[in-house]
Amino acid sequence: MSMNIKRPNGTEDVIPKNVHKWHTVEKITKDIAESYGFCEIRMPTFENTELFMRSVGETTDVVQKEMYTVKAKESEFTLRPEGTAGAIRAMLQNGLLNEALPQRVYYILSCFRHERPQAGRLREFHQFGIEMAGSLSPLADSEVISLANAILKRLGLKNIELYINSIGCPNCRAKYHEALRTYFESRKDELCETCQGRLVKNPMRILDCKSKICQEIGKDAPVILDYLCEECRNHFENLKKHLTNLSIEYKVNPKIVRGLDYYTKTVFEFVTTEIGAQGTVCGGGRYDGLIEELGGQHTPALGFAMGIERLLLLMDKQNCDYLVPKKCDIYFATIGDAALEKAVKLSVNLREYGYFAEYDVMNRGLKAQMKYANKIGAAFTVVLGDNELKSGNAKIKEMTKGEETEIRLNDKFVDSFEEVYFNNILSVIDDTEVNE
Ligand code: ATP
Ligand code: MG
Repeated sequence: MSMNIKRPNGTEDVIPKNVHKWHTVEKITKDIAESYGFCEIRMPTFENTELFMRSVGETTDVVQKEMYTVKAKESEFTLRPEGTAGAIRAMLQNGLLNEALPQRVYYILSCFRHERPQAGRLREFHQFGIEMAGSLSPLADSEVISLANAILKRLGLKNIELYINSIGCPNCRAKYHEALRTYFESRKDELCETCQGRLVKNPMRILDCKSKICQEIGKDAPVILDYLCEECRNHFENLKKHLTNLSIEYKVNPKIVRGLDYYTKTVFEFVTTEIGAQGTVCGGGRYDGLIEELGGQHTPALGFAMGIERLLLLMDKQNCDYLVPKKCDIYFATIGDAALEKAVKLSVNLREYGYFAEYDVMNRGLKAQMKYANKIGAAFTVVLGDNELKSGNAKIKEMTKGEETEIRLNDKFVDSFEEVYFNNILSVIDDTEVNE
């Protein structure tokens, strides 16, 4: 029977040849987040559906169209479409907000959204995200933006623009909603069906609609920046000052409202035009009302999430450097059972010291073993046969230059190998100096 089951639409495999790219993003994001005082948090892949209804918002695309919800016995769960709701839920449930503030967490996780799959838009995708809870100050906003900026820079990415906006607080938004309702009312019949509902419940969501006609109608809509209360306006002005102080370039883009309901005041996106229509590599903002909405004490907070697949698309496009994948340090080519046994023992020992050692497990002849060693790019090879076992000496060959050195097959093998290994690295450095 032939097996012909493919992975679901909108999902991706990361095969070994590409996994170093993921490791690069994971390492850089973690290292930089930790240097800003963030600690990792891990949450379940699914949560009670109500969590996302309450936080992401009932009139958002995510909740209305994109959630994967499963009914299991008498409960209903949803595969997380994003990380913030779960992270805040976990912070509340584990009492983190009663500890020293601000609380700073980061995560790397998979998200699930039922969208039309295309480049940079998947049904299972991955986010690196951070959340910072407890600070009202615009300094926290600039800190979070500066963290995202540092990551993008360290990844080696260029030509990314930072757009910032303020979408105010519930106070200023009430007036703004009225203005939007008045504006959209006259063309109500042309709006998509979802947005006709949004006009009543949450007119700001219309500005975030993906439908062409809604976007067209929304072009001349009133902008929230004209409706900010004094506090929100001051907050925004101070954020701009801090960004300038950090030499972070930005553009104010009053059209950015973000796809999730929980945002207040600052919202921002890092956008590129180099990977097609799905150019937002990072999106975030402040959500001062969310923690209270989820049953905690009023605690201002903010965060962002980066789409890892989009970052990698851009890194590939811009030929960014990745961490070098680990390669075989030493391969034992063996002739006969006794030699193979010796190779197994030496390999186990070398691995204990962190070296990457391999020997033949395919029952191949010597020639085929050497071919394999070449294929996997082994740095050194050692041929072991009866003669070597008898004499207790073998030749270790450096594979790029073909240089051979004598090596003892005794208890000190790791030490001797280390010596050869580092001499070789030093000679490579010498060579490059000579070449320069
Ligand atoms: P978009 O407007 O592109 O749909 P969004 O506003 O829905 O994005 P967020 O919820 O803010 O996205 O998620 C944060 C980041 O996660 C995005 O900036 C993007 O990089 C990434 N992302 C979101 N949805 C997807 C997806 N379906 N596939 C791949 N990456 C995604
Ligand atoms: Mg979306």
